[in-house]
Amino acid sequence: MPGVAVRTADQLERLAIFTLKDLLRHFPYRYDDLRSAPAIASILANRDAPQAQVAGEVNAVGRVVRAAHVRLRGRIRSKTTATIDDGTGSLQAVWFGRPYLGNQLRVDARVFVRGRVDYTLTGATMNVSRHRILKDDEGYEGELIPVYPQTAGLASQELRRLIMRALRVAVGADPALVELDALPAGIRTREHFPDVRTAFYGIHSPATPEEAAQARRRLVYEEFFLLALSSALRRAQRSAEPAPDLSGVAGAAARAEFDHILKSLLPFSLTGAQERVTGEVVSDMLKRSPMNRLLQGDVGSGKTAVAIAAMLLAQRGGYQSAFMAPTEVLAAQQFNKISGLLSQAGLRCALVIGALRRGTRDDILTQLRRAELDAVIGTHALLTEDVEFHNLGLVVIDEQHRFGVLQRAALRAKARGLSPHTLVMTATPIPRTLAQTVYADLDVSIIDELPPGRRPVKTYVRTAQSKGKVCEFVRAEVEKGRQAFIVCPAIDESERALHSAVAQAQELQKTAFAGIQVALLHGRMAVMQKAEVMKLFADGFIKILISTSVIEVGVDIPNASVMLVLDAQAFGLAQLHQLRGRVGRSGQQAYCILIAPDDDEEGANRLRLVAGTNDGFAIAEEDMKIRGSGDLAGVRQHGAFGLRLAHLLHDYPVFLAAKKAADALVKSDPVLRRPEHKALAAFVAAQDRDSALRLSS
Ligand code: ADP
Ligand code: MG
Repeated sequence: MPGVAVRTADQLERLAIFTLKDLLRHFPYRYDDLRSAPAIASILANRDAPQAQVAGEVNAVGRVVRAAHVRLRGRIRSKTTATIDDGTGSLQAVWFGRPYLGNQLRVDARVFVRGRVDYTLTGATMNVSRHRILKDDEGYEGELIPVYPQTAGLASQELRRLIMRALRVAVGADPALVELDALPAGIRTREHFPDVRTAFYGIHSPATPEEAAQARRRLVYEEFFLLALSSALRRAQRSAEPAPDLSGVAGAAARAEFDHILKSLLPFSLTGAQERVTGEVVSDMLKRSPMNRLLQGDVGSGKTAVAIAAMLLAQRGGYQSAFMAPTEVLAAQQFNKISGLLSQAGLRCALVIGALRRGTRDDILTQLRRAELDAVIGTHALLTEDVEFHNLGLVVIDEQHRFGVLQRAALRAKARGLSPHTLVMTATPIPRTLAQTVYADLDVSIIDELPPGRRPVKTYVRTAQSKGKVCEFVRAEVEKGRQAFIVCPAIDESERALHSAVAQAQELQKTAFAGIQVALLHGRMAVMQKAEVMKLFADGFIKILISTSVIEVGVDIPNASVMLVLDAQAFGLAQLHQLRGRVGRSGQQAYCILIAPDDDEEGANRLRLVAGTNDGFAIAEEDMKIRGSGDLAGVRQHGAFGLRLAHLLHDYPVFLAAKKAADALVKSDPVLRRPEHKALAAFVAAQDRDSALRLSS
């Protein structure tokens, strides 16, 4: 699009708008209805209406009877007031920080104003959010104004102008518009959707709310349709690819031996749910098409044991495995646990993280190529090009919601000529019913049972006032031989006005926890240092670990009995549930204490939702209601899933309809080869490319 300044482009990038298409898909989150203005008398009459009715903004049109402009000290600088009268009554309009208004608001000028109204003893005052000076003889004809997510320096109004220009460009250039039309004509007719041009004008510049709703219906469907379509295509494509051949271990004798070895190396016997899911994984892996399985299970449900079983089976069938975790702390911990167990069965494992010394790394990579290693466990560091396998047969991805689709694909691509078996594991990032929305290309297994002897963690919500008492409690637990986590939302003081790990470590070490081994852990520390601290904590030398949410996922310290979260209101609910899952991993009673500021009643109420249930699925659902699907408990949905308008929860029925259509289409044309699907194929390819760009940027 011509004429977009570099500065504007930079601001657009902050809104994840890189292309014309992105701009057109920057959708309004509401419309301000300026279509009509009631008589001022009726606004005044609302004085006694229930609060709910007068909570929103209202419109008024009238003449300026009086205007005054005063300079103010401080940030706001000026205040402009005008009395506006429409013959039925008058109200006081107020603007802050608009010094230029002094000239426009002449007495007798006709104006349109919109804003929130507060009733005073003598009348009504409107805090004006929008206004327009009308020509003397101009009738009032208002519109429905879309309001867009904005960013500093780029207000909704400016975005609206850019978007309208982009629309004209796209409509002018037919190919661009065709490229925006992802829906096959058959579906469009069947669902009575407006055409693509009408839909985009309808959402960005509707004459009525009904028009906007019609447009939204189509655009939401389209987003879901593309999502479901690319899942269905991936699924079809993968099931046609050759899988690692594990037929050597498929026989009854080999199976029995595998079961025997697995039992002998695990320090516990599997729960019923673990047995069942392990069975599903094993039978997938023995098939000739590649496994694509999502393993969902609440924190502490024992997913790692299932991964260990899969890695053992791969090795016995003659293949290597790769296990990828989202953080170095977690990768190191999983390496210790997994290699400790698998080495009993003769497997050779190595840890691959970014911080390895050059020589060590080279040695490991050489061994990996020569098949002198059976498994590697690591972070994103596994994705770099020089990591090559002799014969990769299994990919395990832990806490998979931390990774993008493309990162998973990058690891899988290291199995040359084959599509490796893939197991992705996650602790309830999303409600169960919606797993199939974003992971429609995966089969789902669920571990719905905790290992025996676990007692549910007792959760309490407290205010900052009782922090001293809570610390005494932590001290008492430590004196009983237990350990504790204290989590803060910030690393150091410079970040917002929240408890910070650095300051708390300094302060508490001197006061409440004097004489106790306290240590600090956060993401900016060097990797080796972090690993050292985690090891000392795991070995019980450190009693209290004060950290940021780096310990959120997966960290396993069975002796820890307290999770204390300071400024807990600053975390998402699902994240708090993850944090809570760090304790209560042995048979003993554990506690989670969530501290909110004294005056944050709303925050405390949210926290009580977490305190009220141990069901991660229920919490994920609540989290989604509160935060919307835009930041779905850490699911990197934005861009990666292409959902900008659709809401996973509210629009779920639309998803089901779109998925049905997408599945049918892929069934009839598995690689979109038919001429009438040519445009669609290009669209899917472009979307995959787009999400690749976003994930890499
Ligand atoms: P998550 O599902 O959160 O990844 P982990 O695999 O880390 O859970 O397991 C949590 C803890 O439970 C670990 O200490 C693990 O050793 C233990 N555990 C797993 N399965 C069992 C079992 N069947 N019986 C007893 N303890 C188990
Ligand atoms: Mg885990």
